[in-house]
Amino acid sequence: MILEALPKAAFSLLASSNTLKRLASRYGMRRRGSFARRFIAGESVAEAIEAARQIEQQGLMVTLDLLGESVASSDEAAVATREYLDSVAVIERAGIGRNISLKLTQLGLDVDRATCIDNLRRVLDTSAKSGFFVRVDMEGSAYTDLTIEVLETVWNIGYRNVGTVIQSCLKRSAGDIDRLNALGVRVRLVKGAYSEPREVAYQQKADVDAAFVELMRVLLRAGTYPAIATHDPAMIEATSSFAMQQQISKDKYEFQMLYGIRRDLQAELSRAGHPFRVYVPFGKEWFPYFMRRLGERPANVGFVVRSILREK
Ligand SMILES: Cc1cc2nc3c(=O)[nH]c(=O)nc-3n(C[C@H](O)[C@H](O)[C@H](O)COP(=O)(O)OP(=O)(O)OC[C@H]3O[C@@H](n4cnc5c(N)ncnc54)[C@H](O)[C@@H]3O)c2cc1C
Repeated sequence: MILEALPKAAFSLLASSNTLKRLASRYGMRRRGSFARRFIAGESVAEAIEAARQIEQQGLMVTLDLLGESVASSDEAAVATREYLDSVAVIERAGIGRNISLKLTQLGLDVDRATCIDNLRRVLDTSAKSGFFVRVDMEGSAYTDLTIEVLETVWNIGYRNVGTVIQSCLKRSAGDIDRLNALGVRVRLVKGAYSEPREVAYQQKADVDAAFVELMRVLLRAGTYPAIATHDPAMIEATSSFAMQQQISKDKYEFQMLYGIRRDLQAELSRAGHPFRVYVPFGKEWFPYFMRRLGERPANVGFVVRSILREK
């Protein structure tokens, strides 16, 4: 199908279209069965908590992500930070797993680093008091250095309830993992969701996969409770067999997948006794996240089009 041939880059271009965003926003989340709900738990924290409860009832863990990124002013970053603090309070009262994910550009990384660090510290302070773990998602390669530096800054101040993400598509990642392992920072390993230039990133799936296996091995051997985040059965198999061969027990690492993707595999892995976490995104700013999910699997576009036609 022609859609399969669309590169990730096409989706990131479309993600910047305001018209498309307006259209998607109108139809994407309005009912229970609307198309964006396949990947996004809802626009409110209450809906995310409801989804998280259902996931936890199946024996899986969660991390909740209040969607948002690329804010352009310190006022917007302050609003996003406040929303995170409010969400932490609501999640705590709800009694579900205390684990959140966030993006630094949501907290003002594009505005200036000091603002971003201040905002992150506010989230980490409140989170630490209630025993929350905070995962700093990794964004496009323009932010890799900055993200790791911010992580190191808060780590050196003394925060320990924080970890980050490394992408196997980036050629630099082995060095970054060594740097984070040396500190004891928890790393989530992913393939990488952004369209990246060939100077910095592998372009072939086979190379991204080979790097993923290499990095997974380093993390399992020398990392601190790493998260292996993928829906790819070959990567999961490589992880399980390496762990078995090295006699690394299942409680030393966890698998993670995104909400709504490969639910069959999620349940299967959890039944097999693997600690397993589902990333549950929610919030009004769901459009860029949604477009990345389409870009990973253009066949999803067919599903979206069918849903829109059904709704109309
Ligand atoms: C918990 C979690 C957190 C993440 N955090 C980040 C982050 O911080 N930064 C970042 O850059 N990326 C992040 N990602 C996304 C990641 O980088 C990949 O883009 C994404 O996971 C797809 O790669 P894959 O490993 O599943 O393998 P792929 O080879 O892309 O896919 C393997 C199989 O998984 C299924 N699949 C994958 N994606 C989809 C989809 N969208 N819809 C339907 N089926 C699909 C298909 O069956 C496919 O054949 C995260 C992923 C997870 C699971």
